[in-house]
Order: sequence, then C-alpha cells, then structure tokens
Amino acid sequence: MTGITTKKLILTTLTGIVFFITSGLLTGCKDNISYDLMVEGRLYLDNSPVTIYIKDGKIEKIKKTTKLSGDSDGVIIAPGLIDNQVNGYKGYSFVNIGRDLTLEGIHTITKAFWEAGVTSYMPTLTTNDHQIFLKNFKLLAQAKADPETLGSIPGFHLEGPYISPTDGYRGAHPLIHVREPDWNEFMELYNASEKNILQVTLAPETRGAMEFIDKCRELGIVVGLGHHNGSAAQITEAADKGAAISTHLGNGMANTINRHINPLWPQLAEDRLTASIICDGYHLQPEQIKVFYKTKGPDKVIITSDVSPLGGLTPGYYLNAIGDTLELKAEGVVVYPKQNVLSGSGKLQPQMIGHVMKVTGCDLATVIQMTSTNAARLYGLNDRGEIKPGLRADLILFTMNDYQFDLKKTIVAGKTVYESKK
Ligand SMILES: [Zn+2]
Repeated sequence: MTGITTKKLILTTLTGIVFFITSGLLTGCKDNISYDLMVEGRLYLDNSPVTIYIKDGKIEKIKKTTKLSGDSDGVIIAPGLIDNQVNGYKGYSFVNIGRDLTLEGIHTITKAFWEAGVTSYMPTLTTNDHQIFLKNFKLLAQAKADPETLGSIPGFHLEGPYISPTDGYRGAHPLIHVREPDWNEFMELYNASEKNILQVTLAPETRGAMEFIDKCRELGIVVGLGHHNGSAAQITEAADKGAAISTHLGNGMANTINRHINPLWPQLAEDRLTASIICDGYHLQPEQIKVFYKTKGPDKVIITSDVSPLGGLTPGYYLNAIGDTLELKAEGVVVYPKQNVLSGSGKLQPQMIGHVMKVTGCDLATVIQMTSTNAARLYGLNDRGEIKPGLRADLILFTMNDYQFDLKKTIVAGKTVYESKK
C-alpha cells in the first residue's frame, strides 16, 4: 500500500515560467501540470489511451495520448465500483451474526473491497433488533468519518424491518424482527446514523408505508421496494410518492408466484423504478438479467452484490444470530436451507462484470455505468462514479480477457490502496 500526499505551491512569474515550491516530496510535473500521482491506460468509455493526473485526492486532468508503454497498453482505467448493498464480509456483519461489529471489522471489509476493486459501498443493515441497529449505525457513522476509510462509505442502506412478514417474500430476514413502518423508531435510527441513511428498502403493502415514503422523500432518502408482495396499484402509488428503486429485483419473492398477478410485472413495467440486480450467476437466471436489462435500459439498472457477511470466508456451514444454519457454497452463493431461499451472494461486483457482459452483450462502458455511475447518480454522490476533472480520484486499473476481470491497481481518493503483485 502506498500513499502520496504533498503540499505544493505553484508560483507563476510574469514571464510565465512556473516554479514549484514544495513542503513535501514533489512527485511530478509534466506539461505544466503538477500532480501527486499519474496513471496510464485505456479509458473505459472508448478504449482511448490516456494519462490521468491526480492531485489532492482528485482527478486533475485527463490527457489523451498517442501511445502507451508496453505495461499499460492492455490496462483499462475505470471509475472505482460502487456497491449499494453490502451486508458484511469476511465474517463481519453490519447487523449481528454472533459477533459484534467493530471499527476494525469495518476497516477489514473496506480494505478487502479495495483489494477487489470496489471503492465505495453502502453498509446494509437488514431486519434486526432496534438496539443492534442503534449501536451499529452509531459505529458506522464513526467509520464513515474515519480518515482510514478514505470516504469509501458514503452512507448506509436500511433493508427492512418494514417488509413483508410472509415466508418467501421475507427471504432470510428473521420474522421476529419484521414490523410495520414506524417513523419515530426510524428517526432514532436516522439520528444514530448522523443522517447518513441513504436508502430504506420496505414493502409498499405494509400499513403506513405510503406516509413513510412521503417522509423519507422529504429528507431526501431514496426509497427502495423489496421483500414485498405489493399489488400493481401499491407499486404505482409508491412510485408516485417517489420510490425510486426495486431492491434486488427478482429476489426477495416467493419461489412460486401467480403468472399474471405478482410484484414482478408491475415493477418491470414501472419506468420510474431503477432495478438493482444480483448478478452472481445464482440469484438470477441469465434470461432474467437479459430481460431486466432490456426492459429498464442501461440508465436504470444497478448491479449490486448483496454480499453476505460470509463472503470471503471458507465455504461451509455457519450459524446466524438466531441459530439457523446458513451455507456458503464453493460456487459463491449463500443459501438458507430452512426457508429454501438464497441468503446473499458470496461474490463482489468485479466478479459479476464479465457475467453481465456475456449475458446481455453490453459493452464495458455500459457495465461500468451499471456498477458505478448509476448508483452515484441515484444517491446524489456527485463526487464519484465517473472519470472527470474535479471528481474524487477513485480509480481501478484492470485487464479484461475472456470476460475475466483481473485487477491491477486500486486508487481511492488519490491514494494507491492496492497493487497486484502479478
Ligand atoms: Zn434482501
């Protein structure tokens, strides 16, 4: 891990000659551009060779070049990936799977994500006990502000507890904690999070859901529909009120549904709803991904991991907080045998990119849009999700051969946080 920060003062004389006075190590000056770090490779948008200059944690300049050195010629540069649904990783859960969440645990997750190519993620707290929510939101607010996370946690996602209590739709969320929307209770959580809850996922058919959506929208919180069996009318009403996303569309549903009347069709038909989709190869069939992509279009799809706290661990059987058995399969999916449902992915977004390209036929620029840019736009994160001067220098450098993503380097807020040894 390397990190370079320098303080520089640029003085321009009357004759236009530029001098640099530095209080630290001057790492570069080229074409009158002073910079802390420079990367070369092919821009993900059009494969054109570029040099990107980084200064003070931000993208200073993107310069088209005519040729690249041998090492960087096959390397693609893209904005770091943004994951809007992360339940935990490496045995750490954002709710509770038997061990308390700690600041060290959050650092471990953040660094593991950097080593995979994910530069921003939204810790997701699923249906659980109110006291655990309070405690963990407070801790997460602390982690968000901690310089060690480099701004990689832009905010949080509350998935539940205001979801369907019905088996199947509820998924692996513990019934004992499922409840109806309660604004006073939510405000306690929102305050504990220091107003950093960016999304709430709820079921529109629960009592009080519509008023709850109104109140969320007044605070600018994104409302997602998930783990629900909402009718077409309820889904439309939720969208009228500003619900903006179907959380992991195609999952969080009963295994058997009515072919005409089910929550899938109205959500697919509702153009105002973006769809987040889990593309680990298990949560959705290839044909579903293809249909969702065709129906919603590249501006309205967000590829999410919904990664389980068991992600990154050795495959096997694990107990959850209420003593039920979960299985992390070697293929990278977590199942909950008791309910015969899936319970999160074992993969992160970079391992989904090639699969989506293969299944939909979309190009690299489009798949990066769906794994980075679209999430930044939905949550109003205007400092990331693209490669433009002035934005955070959150960049990934990788190769892509035969749909295989191979990460070479990760830069977060201008710091190199991962470099492949290969
Ligand atoms: Zn879910």
